[in-house]
Amino acid sequence: MKRFEYLEARTVRQAISMLQRYGENARIVAGSTDFLVRWRAGVWNPEHVINIQRVAGLGRITYSSRNGLRIGALVTVRALEQHPMVRRRYPALAAAAASFAGVQVRNLATVGGNICNASPSGDTIPALLVFGAECRIAGPDGDRWVALDQFFTGPGRTVLRSDELLVEVRVPPPPPNTGSHYIKHSPRGAMDIATVGVASLISLDGRRGLCAEVRISLGAVAPTPVRAYSAEESLRGQSIGQELIQSAADSARDGVKPIDDIRGSAKHRKEIVGVITRRTLEQALNAAASGPMTFEEQRRLTVQAAF
Ligand SMILES: Cc1cc2nc3c(=O)[nH]c(=O)nc-3n(C[C@H](O)[C@H](O)[C@H](O)COP(=O)(O)OP(=O)(O)OC[C@H]3O[C@@H](n4cnc5c(N)ncnc54)[C@H](O)[C@@H]3O)c2cc1C
Repeated sequence: MKRFEYLEARTVRQAISMLQRYGENARIVAGSTDFLVRWRAGVWNPEHVINIQRVAGLGRITYSSRNGLRIGALVTVRALEQHPMVRRRYPALAAAAASFAGVQVRNLATVGGNICNASPSGDTIPALLVFGAECRIAGPDGDRWVALDQFFTGPGRTVLRSDELLVEVRVPPPPPNTGSHYIKHSPRGAMDIATVGVASLISLDGRRGLCAEVRISLGAVAPTPVRAYSAEESLRGQSIGQELIQSAADSARDGVKPIDDIRGSAKHRKEIVGVITRRTLEQALNAAASGPMTFEEQRRLTVQAAF
C-alpha cells in the first residue's frame, strides 16, 4: 500500500482547487468504501487523497412535487433507502438502496461515490436511469449538467474531468399513475454486488390505461448500465398484459451481450435478465394501475416473487 498525503476540503471550491493543483495524482474520497478496497489491493495509488465528507451542503436530500428529488453527492445509500418521499414516489430507487450491501456499508457509501465509481453493477444507477436523473458537475469554470445516461464512458470511466466533482443528482417527479421497481440478483444475497440488476418504470395514461411511458435499465450486463430500448418500444402506447410483458422481457434478454465472470456465465446472466425484467415490469404495472404501493408492500411482493 502506497502512502499518500491526506487532505480535507471544506467547500466545493477548495476541492476543485486541490484537484487543479494535483491533477491525475489526486483522488477524491467520500465514504471511501470503494477507495479502501482498491487502495489496499494496490489498484489505486494516488499521491494525494482529498476527503470531501465535510464539504457543506452536499449531504442533503430534498423533494418537491414541482422539481422532484435533489440528492446531494454525499447523501448516503442508507439515507436514500429511508427517505419517505423516495419510498413513496421512487420505489425502484428505495428498493435499489435496500438491496445494497449491508447496513454498515450503506451508512458510509454515498450516492455520488456509487455513480462516480461507474461500476456496471452499481445498484443505484439503473433505478436513477429509469427516472431520468441528471448530474450537476462542478468545475473551475462553474457548473454543468449531464444526463446520467451520458455520464458513463466505460467500466470505471465517466465524463468527469480531473478537476471536476459531482455535486448533486436531480430526479424529476414521476408522472401520475407511475409504478417502478428494482430487483437485484446476486446468489450470495447481502454483501455482494449484482450479477444482474434491473429497474423498470411504467406510466399509464390515466383515461385509457395505455402505457404512456416505459423505461427498463439493466446493470451488470454491459460495460456500463444500459437501457433496453427495443423492449421498451414494444410496450409504449400499448395496453399491457402478461403476454406483452413476457415478450418485452424476452427482448431485453435477447438484446444483451454480458460477459462470463466469477459471478455468473453470460448464458446465466441472459436468463436472469429475462426473469427479473418480467418481474420488475409486473410489479411496476401493478403499482401504476392500483396507485402507489408502499415500500413495504413492494418488498413483500419481491420476497414472495423470490420463492
Ligand atoms: C463490502 C462492500 C459491499 C459493497 N456492496 C455494494 C453493493 O451491494 N452495491 C453497489 O452498488 N456497490 C457496493 N459496494 C461498492 C461501494 O460501496 C459503492 O460503490 C459506494 O456507493 C461508493 O461510495 P463511496 O462514497 O464509498 O465512494 P468512495 O470509495 O469514496 O469513492 C468511489 C469513487 O468515486 C469517486 N468519487 C466519490 N465521490 C465523488 C464525487 N462527489 N465527485 C467525483 N468523484 C467522486 C472517488 O474518487 C472514487 O473514484 C460495496 C463495497 C464494499 C466494500
